[in-house]
Amino acid sequence: APAETPQIVIDAHGLPYLNAGLPVQKRVADLLSRMSLQEKAGQMTQAERGAVGGGGDIATYALGSLLSGGGSTPTPNTPEAWAKMIDGFQLRTRATRLQIPLIYGVDAVHGHNNLAGATIMPHNVGIGATRDPQLAQRTGSVTASEVRATGIPWDFAPCLCVSRDERWGRSYESFGEDPALVQSMETIIQGLQGRADGRDLSRNDKVLATAKHFVGDGGTAYGSSTTGTYTIDQGVTTVTRQQLEDIHLAPYRTAVQRGIGAVMPSYSSLDIVGDGQGAVKMHARGDMINGVLKRRMGFGGFVISDWNAIDQLPGDYATHVRTAVNAGVDMMMVPYGYKDFGSTLVDEVKAGRISEARIDDAVSRILTQKFRLGLFEHPYADTSGAAAIGSPAHRAVARRAAAESQVLLKNSGGLLPLKKSEKVYVAGSNADDLGNQTGGWTLTWQGASGTHTQGTTILRGMREAGGDITYSKDASAPTDGYDAGVVVVGETPYAEGVGDVGNGHSLQLSAADQAAVDKVCAAMKCAVLIVSGRPQLVGDRLGTIDALVASWLPGTEGEGVADVLYGKRPFTGQLPVTWPKSESQLPINVGDPSYDPQFPYGWGLSTLTGVSRGGTATLKALGAAATAAERKGDDRAGRELVTEARLIVQQKAGERMAQAVAKPFADAGHLLLTGRYGKAVEMLTEAYRAA
Ligand code: BGC
Repeated sequence: APAETPQIVIDAHGLPYLNAGLPVQKRVADLLSRMSLQEKAGQMTQAERGAVGGGGDIATYALGSLLSGGGSTPTPNTPEAWAKMIDGFQLRTRATRLQIPLIYGVDAVHGHNNLAGATIMPHNVGIGATRDPQLAQRTGSVTASEVRATGIPWDFAPCLCVSRDERWGRSYESFGEDPALVQSMETIIQGLQGRADGRDLSRNDKVLATAKHFVGDGGTAYGSSTTGTYTIDQGVTTVTRQQLEDIHLAPYRTAVQRGIGAVMPSYSSLDIVGDGQGAVKMHARGDMINGVLKRRMGFGGFVISDWNAIDQLPGDYATHVRTAVNAGVDMMMVPYGYKDFGSTLVDEVKAGRISEARIDDAVSRILTQKFRLGLFEHPYADTSGAAAIGSPAHRAVARRAAAESQVLLKNSGGLLPLKKSEKVYVAGSNADDLGNQTGGWTLTWQGASGTHTQGTTILRGMREAGGDITYSKDASAPTDGYDAGVVVVGETPYAEGVGDVGNGHSLQLSAADQAAVDKVCAAMKCAVLIVSGRPQLVGDRLGTIDALVASWLPGTEGEGVADVLYGKRPFTGQLPVTWPKSESQLPINVGDPSYDPQFPYGWGLSTLTGVSRGGTATLKALGAAATAAERKGDDRAGRELVTEARLIVQQKAGERMAQAVAKPFADAGHLLLTGRYGKAVEMLTEAYRAA
């Protein structure tokens, strides 16, 4: 603890809950037995850190948790300031009767994104493109260590949304459209929390993770519905029971197995076809939170509401509180309404409309995680890991993730990788913009263009790679005398709520981007990189573009992108979502009956060398080997064999993805994720014949 923070006065009376030698369950039961109803209500309350009267309200209302959320007041800018601030809040709990430490939470959704100078990872859509579960885990480890080193033990991540329609403005927070892909990336939970039994949580480099947004946040419909007009963000997900299980609930089964500590319900509503309830807000769905998540899946952590989400429920405020708590929400994110929440909760319990057993269950769940995090023993920040924030070792993980996330969609004439001897003309709005490259949830909620943290833009990465480069953002500089052009285009940052088409953002390239692409591609061989949270429509322009790369939102390490552009690493990324031809195709997902995308789910050319030349005989041999690997449970071999088969098909199909090729190709991608390697190669052989 910093010098100005008084040491904790650990109770000397030998109260069992303060005895670290006792099992957590015993400590929880002991503490619970000593708590008043008001104190229990306080534990169930999360307030915004700028709203608590400089900290005074922490003791007054016996608050259990604080947050810096997306909509919060500006956050501190240095590790020391974070630690000092949180220690100051923690100190306030010393003035409470039972001295229960606070649990502080932030959205660190791609690295410690609230802190200038931290290592910023690619957003989840890019992580999904890597198809690399070990790497996903490592990004989680780096994030956890940077977050915990600033005194924060709790992260509102990962988002387990399965994005089904790219018009949704939070698509970039999804690992992809296939639940099996999302599940395979849940190794990130181990990176954040450590082992599934929770015993690593007290380490100074781990945090409690939050799976969000339960459930169906990625499945909301676009447009208006019978229940009124809504935009796709926070809208209604209409599914059959089977679709709910297979698509949206599947990632939560995995998260529970991996010991996820917290779950956040979604702002969206769920409408299960035929269950007679119609569209019901998730914060009110006791059948899902109590029934499916807690009882059926056996989730033992606690449920934290989304920001002010209870205010969206029908009825008066007391009804909001009662409905959410009785549905199974354990802690309420009531940033500015924490006083009302606490008193209303107490009144509802006294009136018998919320049972004491429900309150005890909620508080036990919260306290269990606080004990596991070691907060009673070490409430103050352990900043010993702060020196590693934004360190070369951490940035190396982000750089690698950026490189592996790049998806090569087209590569006519083998334009990529570039050679250092080539004269390269770089243009476009996103070539030299760290803010656009990092996207939303970076320093501020919605993110911002420009340089607001430390990192390397793609342009700088290319220069550092030794490229012979001339840069002209708007492509106004003369274009003669160049061997190749690289035009980096795409989106500007947004986080949530504004991503829907027609609200200032769309899947179309901006006029300036289109002009830059047209000018450069008319003058020379060109590669176009799309820096965005979701596919952008290139339409007929595809014919004039020699190489096309989906760069997603690669984070602070532009060198990672340069690594693949200059061949230091091969392109290996695969599409985590289907790349549509037009907006009229949306929603479009692998497995759809008439699947005719521009590039199918799983597509991604590789510049890996040494791939066998192919032919059906080779594929047959690969299929036999894959089946053998599957029987032996050798996942690594299985994956490699399927990858090789995939590359053979791609070489033959080029970038012409006729439906005959796209469908079996995409289906094979799905089988790969479910470990059915032999069958996957069979499908690829079919695609090869059709190509
Ligand atoms: C988002 C959540 C986030 C919360 C706190 C909400 O608007 O939907 O994903 O965790 O804010 O910042």
